[in-house]
Amino acid sequence: MVSRVCILGATGSIGASALDVIGRNRDEYSVDILTANTNFQKLFQLCKQHEPSIVAMACAESAEKLKSLLKENNMLQTTVLSGTEAINNVASTDNIDIVIAAIVGSAGLLPTLSGIKKNRKILLANKEALVMSGDLFMSVIEREGAILLPVDSEHNAIFQSLPQPTEFAKTNLKGVHQILLTGSGGPFLKEPLEALASKTPDEACAHPNWDMGRKISVDSATMMNKGLELIEACYLFNVAIEDVEIVIHPQSIVHSMVSYLDGSVIAQMGNPDMRTPIAHCLAWPKRIDAGVKPLDFYSIAKLEFQNPDYERYPCLRLAIEAVKIGDSAPCILNAANEIAVDAFLSDRIKFTEIAKVIETTLNKMEFEPLLNIEQIISTDKLARNIANAIVSELSL
Ligand code: NDP
Repeated sequence: MVSRVCILGATGSIGASALDVIGRNRDEYSVDILTANTNFQKLFQLCKQHEPSIVAMACAESAEKLKSLLKENNMLQTTVLSGTEAINNVASTDNIDIVIAAIVGSAGLLPTLSGIKKNRKILLANKEALVMSGDLFMSVIEREGAILLPVDSEHNAIFQSLPQPTEFAKTNLKGVHQILLTGSGGPFLKEPLEALASKTPDEACAHPNWDMGRKISVDSATMMNKGLELIEACYLFNVAIEDVEIVIHPQSIVHSMVSYLDGSVIAQMGNPDMRTPIAHCLAWPKRIDAGVKPLDFYSIAKLEFQNPDYERYPCLRLAIEAVKIGDSAPCILNAANEIAVDAFLSDRIKFTEIAKVIETTLNKMEFEPLLNIEQIISTDKLARNIANAIVSELSL
């Protein structure tokens, strides 16, 4: 039977990798729903290649331009929806088997939640959604009886290295000593600390191993990405922060590991290519072709591992503190980070000021339990307002 796929954030880097894997396995998957924010030209190209029945764009003006293009080209089989409401609800459409959550940032939360339905596979790339809504997100997965599979390469590696069969997201660590979450350290791993303040957005986005969207690339340079992933791991695998150790591994060949009480360590390895974890999730528990070259062990000169340096990566320290505080702290951390990264990418603050914006925002806010979606959204909004004000002061 062909599985019908909805891709939230189809025009991004994860969207492209997912569509590449699907294109190699047309007998198994059909592309039914695609979404984007503003990039109507790219979405038009995707409509030509994949003939989805529905597309949705958050930006209404861009959706109008897409409609005109589809009309001019007699491609009226695709329905175009527009606006935030449409994006937030489109994944709830019936007859979808797989939802790939690949919108960047908190904008992905409501669209992803609406796609969580009985027996559906939810392929989660949008880590920010889980970080901001942790307990609520996991309870919706459980309540609806959906299958949550991690696309993030590290979490996918951990999933593959945990005891099988895994009752997913309910690891009680039986026999497991520790989860070892690896990260490359990003492009500034070896830069002198005093050089970091003058780093440009393009330099921060030039990741040595992975080709990704700009927001996650900056998160990798600050290692906030690893902080968000630490929070993600705690929710996905139902473990405490003490059960997860962050290990810097510059080559990005070992995507993460699980160490066991008997001394065994199981690692998942491969070339750094997101098509591997996407293919793994799409086909799970089977395997399909991802178009990724087999790992050539003879060309890997060495595999290095080292401890993270918190002076170099203050954002990682802030993320660890936020997990320890709990309650609304991860949601505030995530919101402040999104504002700070956006300000850095638009040249309003320095690279080293990203951590300052996040720390000051955390210091200015009260922490409280987030019991429902309204509280999550209002906390996110308040943190953004505070972070924006801090950015304005810094960029004066
Ligand atoms: P990109 O920036 O490449 O793509 C983001 C996608 O989200 C685009 O389709 C974009 O549309 C859409 N989008 C952006 N803002 C909105 C909005 N307000 N409303 C609706 N849609 C929106 O990001 P990536 O693909 O790199 O990352 C996506 C997610 O996956 C992130 O959460 C990231 O952390 C995670 N991830 C990414 C990895 C990677 O290798 N890239 C690896 C692991 C996780 P448009 O093109 O129109 O702007």
